[in-house]
Amino acid sequence: MYARRRALPTRPARPLWHWLVPAMLALLALWGGWSVLGRPHDLSPQGAALTRTPAQDWADLAAFGPRPVGSEGHGRAAAWLAGQFRALGYRVTEQPVQVTRPFDQGGELRVGELRVPVRALYGARGGDQQGRLVRVPPDAPAERLRALGLEAGLALTTCPRGSWRDLTERVIDAGGLGLVLVETCPGHPLERVSETPLPLVTVGARDAERVLAQAGRPASLTSRVEWREVTGHNLIAARVEARPEVLFGAHLDTVNGSPGANDNASGVLAVLEAARRAAGTPLAGRAWFVLFDAEEDGLHGSYAFITTYGFPLRDTRAMLNFDMVGVGAAPLGVEAHPELLALARRLRPDIRVFDDRPTRTRETFGRSSPLSGRSDHLNFKRQGIRTVYLNRGEDVNYHAPGDRSLDPALVSETADFASRLAQAALQAPWTREEPCGITGRDCRY
Ligand SMILES: [Zn+2]
Repeated sequence: MYARRRALPTRPARPLWHWLVPAMLALLALWGGWSVLGRPHDLSPQGAALTRTPAQDWADLAAFGPRPVGSEGHGRAAAWLAGQFRALGYRVTEQPVQVTRPFDQGGELRVGELRVPVRALYGARGGDQQGRLVRVPPDAPAERLRALGLEAGLALTTCPRGSWRDLTERVIDAGGLGLVLVETCPGHPLERVSETPLPLVTVGARDAERVLAQAGRPASLTSRVEWREVTGHNLIAARVEARPEVLFGAHLDTVNGSPGANDNASGVLAVLEAARRAAGTPLAGRAWFVLFDAEEDGLHGSYAFITTYGFPLRDTRAMLNFDMVGVGAAPLGVEAHPELLALARRLRPDIRVFDDRPTRTRETFGRSSPLSGRSDHLNFKRQGIRTVYLNRGEDVNYHAPGDRSLDPALVSETADFASRLAQAALQAPWTREEPCGITGRDCRY
């Protein structure tokens, strides 16, 4: 007998794929689930947001006060607006916009015992100067100002008929060391003046007589202006898969010290109202609603926007820009690309058509293509995008602290007209225009 020695049978090692395949399947399922859940998705519009009115919107927005970029009121207003769009079922993307802008820290005119508070003209860099107050006519040329003895003096004047920038430049050309502009004008056209480090200021109408009586006396003028880099935000509201075939836009910032009811809460509320009307309709899938920032400082927000979103904007058939549509200084008017103008006239044959003041001309190989625009649509025109600028004229409170009321009915009417125009633009035949190119031959404006 012998003992048969044989190894007991052992189970063979499991091949690698036996556990690798289930592990990979599990990972795949996990990744799939995560990407579905993590993907941005549309929210449903909330009933309460759908039934709000521009009058209610304005009551809430007005409470935040002036909205210059970098101010507290601006930040609170932007957060409130983003919330309104979200409640209407849109996703809101915030695009930062960096801008360096002046903040007036106040100042004083001193003549003998008299002390009068002053405000810097927008854009002026401020400073301290002493000199004789020289009363000058506001529209006189620089030579005449010099002949009146303005050199090394402080110009004392009233509202010019022409631009404030032009007035400050003539004062500086004539050797003036500062400007005191007595605000007796009904309007307050705020435009950027020379960034010369001199005190260029206004005094309020209630100090007008006291100040004008000081002509010829030595005075001391102080104006403090702080220039700060601040960050604003464009708010881009759209359904997740929406393409910007039409784009409703308005600027949300104001100039310093103005509550900006007509300029431009009216435009902002018209965009919000158009978004409300579109919510839950097919238009919501074909539209973007954008609130631009830092328009008043030089169209910075819309510039940042077209620079970043150039590709999706190739689909844009119409950009509708709302600026000052809440006060009826004039009937609702449009300045529009010829094809969109034809659609606007079909909807409303008597629509007012205005010429947007040309501010710049573009020269390309001897051909010039006048591009005009005083608001954000200009940056879209420059990209060859067809625009409609909606506006009701310049009211007396333009850029003034008095710009504190608007008519919600005019806002609604504008949103209604613009929504119908957007629908018409989507239904009309359209071929994409390629950028103007170096010859400028294809530019339509
Ligand atoms: Zn404006």
